[in-house]
Amino acid sequence: MFGLFGKKEESKKQACDLPFLCWQCEMSAPGGCGAHGESKGVCGKDATKARLQDLMTYGLRGLSAYREHARELIEKFGDEAEWKTLMDIDDVTAETLYFTLTNVNFNFDEHIAQLMRVGNAGVKVMDLLSELHTKALGIPTPVEVTQNKAEGKGILVSGHNLDMLEKLLQRIEERGLSDKINVYTHSEMLPAHGYPHLRKYKNLKGNIGKAWFDQTDIFSKWNGTCVVNTNCIVPPEKSGKVKNYIDRLYTYKIVGIEGAKKIENDNFDPLIDHTLELPDITGFDSDEKIATGHHYKTVLEAYGAKVLDAIKEGKLKRVWVIAGCDAPGRKRDYFRELALAVPKDHIIITSSCGKFRFNDVDFGTVPGTDIPRYIDLGQCNDSNGAVHIALAVANALGIEDINELPVSIALMWMEQKAIIILLALLSLGIKDIYIGPNAPQFANEDIVNFLVQNFNLGVISGDIHKDFGKELAG
Ligand code: SF4
Ligand code: SF4
Repeated sequence: MFGLFGKKEESKKQACDLPFLCWQCEMSAPGGCGAHGESKGVCGKDATKARLQDLMTYGLRGLSAYREHARELIEKFGDEAEWKTLMDIDDVTAETLYFTLTNVNFNFDEHIAQLMRVGNAGVKVMDLLSELHTKALGIPTPVEVTQNKAEGKGILVSGHNLDMLEKLLQRIEERGLSDKINVYTHSEMLPAHGYPHLRKYKNLKGNIGKAWFDQTDIFSKWNGTCVVNTNCIVPPEKSGKVKNYIDRLYTYKIVGIEGAKKIENDNFDPLIDHTLELPDITGFDSDEKIATGHHYKTVLEAYGAKVLDAIKEGKLKRVWVIAGCDAPGRKRDYFRELALAVPKDHIIITSSCGKFRFNDVDFGTVPGTDIPRYIDLGQCNDSNGAVHIALAVANALGIEDINELPVSIALMWMEQKAIIILLALLSLGIKDIYIGPNAPQFANEDIVNFLVQNFNLGVISGDIHKDFGKELAG
């Protein structure tokens, strides 16, 4: 693989001019340590360690979101072991925050070790959440859902909180309104359709729209109500279109936006009543369909043996992980171009909302097999599934180091959930990951060198053949 950040000179130019910025304590230089180009703070903390500490806290932010969903489910039906895992994760959060206090640690290797502990907590939280979701809602199975087709009174739910979706469906059913109100998914709620306990609600219909940032377009066309139940809500000032739907927009728990209504204490009745008052949905009558529901447990169960046979017989030559956060802009067309260029005897594993860059494509099956070439593991928190599949395949093939498997990884990153996923992968020793489309601005040359030397991490160049020419050639 090429050197990180491909060409270091370019990446240096892209990086922030400030070596770092820290103003967390009273000793801070005026305007913050680093604000005037200093390479060290008054306390002696240098730019690299300050940036590594920032990176830890970014990882913790992503971790906290998954941790919160896990806690909600553990409170409902968790066992002692699950509470214990949650406490272990919380310990890492507290310890890491402690680590970033003024005058605690000035040792580079120990900063890296702490970062890996954060990554390890990321592995734990994704495994925990995955187990809790399947315990609560059953193990997802592949399903094709309608895309951009809606009728009747409608509620459109966006976000990652499957528990909230189930509670809403339950309440509609309790009120005898299942044949009057249909519920649709948007963005990271798409994988909900794969879960058997959610699919049993016949009024959970199809999916509308793509990744989170088309909310303003989709919600303003939607005649019904909309709910955003986790991060990735588009703030009003980003688009004048918000005024078209702000009075029909509901937020849940931590999500907030001025002018929207809050669902308080899991009382869905105001949302349901409001939906009944609104006209039927019009303007969504597409015939498209999209696939989801390839949880790693289902993949291993349904295709595990077939995948091994196909690898041994040379019918399946490579696995691609093309996943991560979508965001506005043309640069992410790279990932669609890459998915389309993947040879027919390769498969693509995806997760998160980045899949909307290419999930309209029918990738078919690996020739000579019935193994689907497109596998949607689910939400961003289901990214751990790729590791479980890789470990199972490596184990069955007697390969000790999963980095020796024919796997190529291209990850889109946007916010801090992607950071905890990346740290999780690094903590497992997974190498040769390409991230993009932009280099992280929190990295400086020392961090870059460390990531290249230890993980061969790279930033996509924008040219799929430059980055993956050999792998794409088969
Ligand atoms: S912790 Fe160190 S670098 Fe940060 S503001 Fe205080 S003195 Fe400056
Ligand atoms: S995958 Fe990332 S960008 Fe997309 S909705 Fe989830 S957290 Fe947001």
